[in-house]
Amino acid sequence: MKPYTNKRIADESRYWGIYSSAEAVLSGRQVDIVNKLKARLAVITGGSKGIGRNVALRFAVAQDNIIIVHYDPDEKDAAETLRALRQLGVEAESYKIDVSSFEAVDSLFKDIFSKHKKIDVLVNNAGITRDSLLMRMTEDQWDTVIRVNLKSVFNCTHAVLRSMIKERQGCIVNIASVVGQIGNAGQANYSASKAGIMGFTKTVAREVAPRGVRVNAVAPGFIDTEMTAVLPDTVKESFMKQIPLGKIGRPEDVAEAAYWLCTDAASYITGQIIHVNGGMYM
Ligand code: NAD
Repeated sequence: MKPYTNKRIADESRYWGIYSSAEAVLSGRQVDIVNKLKARLAVITGGSKGIGRNVALRFAVAQDNIIIVHYDPDEKDAAETLRALRQLGVEAESYKIDVSSFEAVDSLFKDIFSKHKKIDVLVNNAGITRDSLLMRMTEDQWDTVIRVNLKSVFNCTHAVLRSMIKERQGCIVNIASVVGQIGNAGQANYSASKAGIMGFTKTVAREVAPRGVRVNAVAPGFIDTEMTAVLPDTVKESFMKQIPLGKIGRPEDVAEAAYWLCTDAASYITGQIIHVNGGMYM
């Protein structure tokens, strides 16, 4: 094994993106300036609360600037998220639009591009459930979930892709779900939307890989958010029995995977589904 010389440590730390030797000798203020220059712009749909809020915070901890998109009835959660993001010292904006609308998304991204030169990261996280056994599922329950969970991913990716291709760089992370792979009684609409996201991810990853853009998905298992808080105790207990690690996941667990996929450490990874589910599906 080669000895650990100063040069080797400097080379390896630079390779892993930890700290370049040049940065190591800068003062704290200079490091802040370097970080600001390196800051990316990340757009996170469904970023007002739950998993999306934690994804936004994770990118902000790394000093990336953030735009959150949400469709909550009020601005309470979005305002709280913006406050937390700004406390981390990054620039943060929030927009309320329905990501299932092609026109609304197109117009929002035009506005963003008129203010910002480029978008480096897109996390397609907005999602809803409208659960019902298939025999009782209405056309509206089916259509709404497919539009909000799946068509939104097309809308936002479509809006951002041309710019990422032009820049020859960019990362897209789509938030799928374990039930897109294993199914779940009462969620035919939801699991179909999430399985659709997985196929979409792999296809677009193939299309844009030669242009330097990476597209991956994170498939969470059972995560502690408002979406799962409303589930009956019997459903929660049945989920818990299926989790080898024996505990519910935290939004931070999903956020960490989404963030990591957008770092240089993951620069050779595209078209993958990363499972964050406590072993629920292997
Ligand atoms: P949540 O209900 O806490 O938050 C949902 C977010 O999506 C909110 O910001 C909301 O405003 C936004 N949103 C909903 N409809 C929208 C629309 N039409 N346009 C724009 N924004 C919209 O949900 P969560 O639990 O944090 O889930 C986030 C994502 O993770 C979803 O895609 C969900 O399917 C997925 N997921 C969650 C779990 C879980 O256990 N919580 C498991 C697997 C996958």
